[in-house]
Formats: sequence, structure tokens, C-alpha cells
Amino acid sequence: SCHCNLFVLWKLLFQKVCVFFFIINHCTLHFCQDVHHGYGTEEIFYTDPSVLYISLHRYDNGSFFLGNGQPTRVGSDRGEGYNVNVAWSGGLSPPMGDAEYLAAFRTVVMPIAHEFSPDVVLVSAGFDAAEGHPEALGGYRVSAECFGFLTRKLMELAEGRVMLVLEGGSNPITLCDALQACVSALVGNEPEPLNEEELVRKPCVNAVESLKTVLHVQSENRSVSIVHVYFLWSF
Ligand SMILES: [Zn+2]
Repeated sequence: SCHCNLFVLWKLLFQKVCVFFFIINHCTLHFCQDVHHGYGTEEIFYTDPSVLYISLHRYDNGSFFLGNGQPTRVGSDRGEGYNVNVAWSGGLSPPMGDAEYLAAFRTVVMPIAHEFSPDVVLVSAGFDAAEGHPEALGGYRVSAECFGFLTRKLMELAEGRVMLVLEGGSNPITLCDALQACVSALVGNEPEPLNEEELVRKPCVNAVESLKTVLHVQSENRSVSIVHVYFLWSF
């Protein structure tokens, strides 16, 4: 059985190495859904046009921990236009929820991601934007079903080559539910239906302003049109 285990280990290692080389040789969308900005990832790929970094995070004009992730950060040198910060501002009145995250996907994330056409999608799968996090740790109320839906949307890219790397979340109950919804989406199950009220709710004014800001900044680099904003709630 030792030999057998070693074989399994080698096989896993081989697969990991293959995945690694696949990623470094191809165009990667790195999507970060953690409520905090992934400043390290942004920094590493800031000048790299082969990695499109898109982050959805609470920003509040720089007053939310750690204060970075400005919507004006679009990348530099050859990487200009390959960094997208959907930086929510306006605090928690009201907190961002499904309607806002769905709007961000419709208007910013998916249009830009489709244009980029990645070979593989990597997700920093943090779940601290989920319900059940105190104000200082997130304060948002994105549902488990919505996280599953976002994973499923990302699977429209890269022929479904989507990898989630669990980053955490500090509410074990909502973390489990949200992660389960994502894994379920990954294996191809029909997703749980989204909350009806959230589907018809207009994104809050603060969210619309945040999306307008990022679209305005990003439209200088690409064909994404500000017109998208007016279809925010035509789901
Ligand atoms: Zn976080």
C-alpha cells in the first residue's frame, strides 16, 4: 500500500505541476471575491498583461481595512487595463448584498472577463462578504446561493476551467453554506435559486455610484461602455 500511496502522491504532484505550468503559460483571470482587497496579488501582476486581476471589495473611499484597492488602479506599463477594482464605497447604509454583486457581475466583471477571454480562472474564494460577519469584518450580506451563482457565471469562461482557492471567512456557518454552493456549482449541479426579492431589487445608490466610477475609469482602457450602467437592473 506504501507503493500505491506513493504512486497517488506522484500522480497528484504531477497534476499540480501541470496545473502550475498551464497557468504560467496562459492568460489567467484572477478573480478576488474576498471583502478585503487582495493587494498582494494586485502588486505581483500589476504590470503583467497575461493576468487580469478583478477584485470586488469593500473600500469606503479608503476607510475600510486595509484602505487599498482604489478603483483608479488599472495596472501600469504593459499591464495597463488588466487591473480592475470594483471598490464599494458608501459604508453599510445599506450593506451590499446579492443585488449589488449580481449588478457588478453583469456590468463589470463578465463583460471585461469575456473580452479578456482567459484560458483559466483562479478565484480567491474568501467568504467574508457573506451574511453573518460583523461590521468591522465585512458587514455585507451576500447569500450562499449568490456565491454559487457567481462561480457558475465564471465557469462560462475558459471552457469551465475554474479553480477556487479557499481564503476563509470568519463565520463558519455562512462560510460552509457558501463554499458548499460554490463546490456544487463546480461539479455541475443546478444551483439553488436566488432569492426572488434580491433578483428584482435595484442595486443601492452607493453601489451604482461605485460601479459608475470603475466603469468610467476602465472605459478609458477598453471598449466597455458606460452604457452598461443603465442596464444594471435589467437582469
Ligand atoms: Zn477578507
